[in-house]
Amino acid sequence: EMPPQEGRGLFGRLFGRREAQPVMRRTLDDDMLESLEELLIAADMGVDTALRVTSNMAEGRLGRKLSVDEIKRLLAAEISRVLEPVARPLPIYAKRPQVVLVVGVNGSGKTTTIGKLASQFKAAGKEVVIAAGDTFRAAAVEQLQVWGQRAGVPVLTAPEGSDPASLAFDAMARAQDEGADLLLIDTAGRLQNRQDLMEELAKIVRVIRKKDPEAPHNTLLVLDATTGQNALAQVEVFRQIADVSGLVMTKLDGTAKGGVLVALADRFGLPIHAIGVGEQIDDLAPFDPEEFAAALTG
Ligand code: GDP
Repeated sequence: EMPPQEGRGLFGRLFGRREAQPVMRRTLDDDMLESLEELLIAADMGVDTALRVTSNMAEGRLGRKLSVDEIKRLLAAEISRVLEPVARPLPIYAKRPQVVLVVGVNGSGKTTTIGKLASQFKAAGKEVVIAAGDTFRAAAVEQLQVWGQRAGVPVLTAPEGSDPASLAFDAMARAQDEGADLLLIDTAGRLQNRQDLMEELAKIVRVIRKKDPEAPHNTLLVLDATTGQNALAQVEVFRQIADVSGLVMTKLDGTAKGGVLVALADRFGLPIHAIGVGEQIDDLAPFDPEEFAAALTG
């Protein structure tokens, strides 16, 4: 069995390993609040959110002597309060097929997340179709085919460099013909040419709406937690080029930057549908605010 990771959470760092006795009492004063703010900022929560969280936590309690354990629980509760409203599993519509467009920069974990989602829905008895819409990246297409095989889900592809919108249209037709429950559409993530990407995404949306005026039903933005505060900038950009309806945060396993999720919740209020916690097909977890806050403050 692994020993507990002592001293690695925020409080371990604040009070030191040996001193972090749960019953040790400390005064909740300005110095203490400042230390807590620094810790939250170091965990990539961003200044505004860190200040809001600590000041909410201190309200009506300033000058009180509290045990380290109490402080930890109060802070976790405050963080949890920010996260609670955005923790929403991907909504499932009666619509067949439900069309989910997946966007995000290359490397964020789009392909992996699509594989994981396909596997989860397939295991839940849904018929799933994947469209490998990043037709310019042969590696992404191959990767999706591997995921599709593992999940037992068909992956529609098109020749390298061909029009992603035409693939999306064909995938839509096939998903409708087969009465599939879910169509997951991968997209390109080349932010270097934002205008091109915007037009490409708009065209995909336009053609799938010929088949279903309400599609896509969800536009998932996949973000890499290890990029820290950069994730906030990515949300800003992608909200300009696509109608982002929710987020998936990947690579939360083994990063100290998970605090960015709190900043995202605080700033944008977009639903966080799931979190990626590893590279394997089952490593997609529902987002649990309490568990997350407890782990962050740990
Ligand atoms: P894409 O370019 O956006 O399609 O990104 P990929 O899905 O190819 O993922 C990029 C890299 O991140 C790959 O090496 C994945 O195995 C890895 N990855 C994706 N999601 C996670 C996750 O939740 N945890 C970890 N540790 N790695 C991940």
